[in-house]
Amino acid sequence: MAGSRSEAPVVIAVAITGSVPRKTDNPAVPVTVPEQIESTHRAFEAGATLCHIHVRNDDESPSSDPDKFAAVQEGLRRHCPGMIVQFSTGGRGRDPAARGLSLKHRPDMASLSTGSVNFPTIVYENPASLVSDLASQMKQYGVRPEIEIFDLSHLHGAKRLVEAGLIDARPHVQFVMGVQNAMPAEEHLLDILLAETRRILPQATWTAAGIGRNQAIVMDWALARGADAVRTGLEDNIRVTKDRLAASNAELVGLAAEAVARHGRRVATPAEARAALGLA
Ligand code: ZN
Repeated sequence: MAGSRSEAPVVIAVAITGSVPRKTDNPAVPVTVPEQIESTHRAFEAGATLCHIHVRNDDESPSSDPDKFAAVQEGLRRHCPGMIVQFSTGGRGRDPAARGLSLKHRPDMASLSTGSVNFPTIVYENPASLVSDLASQMKQYGVRPEIEIFDLSHLHGAKRLVEAGLIDARPHVQFVMGVQNAMPAEEHLLDILLAETRRILPQATWTAAGIGRNQAIVMDWALARGADAVRTGLEDNIRVTKDRLAASNAELVGLAAEAVARHGRRVATPAEARAALGLA
């Protein structure tokens, strides 16, 4: 794990779409496959080197269609050379049995939640059996997980997967703060999470995601603590200020790049991003 005064370049992850229908809230949210490829390409040119992907049905509801995931991946491989492709296996609005269907297309990474948590209107259910099943499939297809930490117990869920041999001892973890009814965006909680990560997963790389208006401040807290990556994108936040919608994922990536520079670091190239997160 990087120290608090890291000189290492910073991976900018962009979560382009998400699973909550938002096109009506901000028309810049890409929904169709061509929109997603175009939006990601611009974000890539602005400095993003990891793309976190959800796909949608024609009615904009969350989809688990592996062909759609494959189509986005193919477009990104063509237009964003070297960019890390990360599929979501997240659960909102999706059949649990279908959440791993896209893994057979062997993205570089996939998100993996290691425990359940309350969300704004639902329980985000990740029973232990589903977690180990998804982790097994990721191992089978050579997909590196990004461990989603919505609660302290989820770190211990990741540790159990390491002990079971389902993930390696150097996972990439993401702390998610500011989801209503889950972990609030409070700076001292990040210190608690980091201390526990260093204790039980000492080789882990890490990042943090702030949801909604917490996006920029959580990014600052993470950069001040030597994060290996930062996360931005319209999935988490559709605004630049209270009164202005973000024009694109690329605009949010540009703001992230400015934050990286303010902290005396630089934005990783695709090759550096891959090296940092243990990818070939
Ligand atoms: Zn997501």
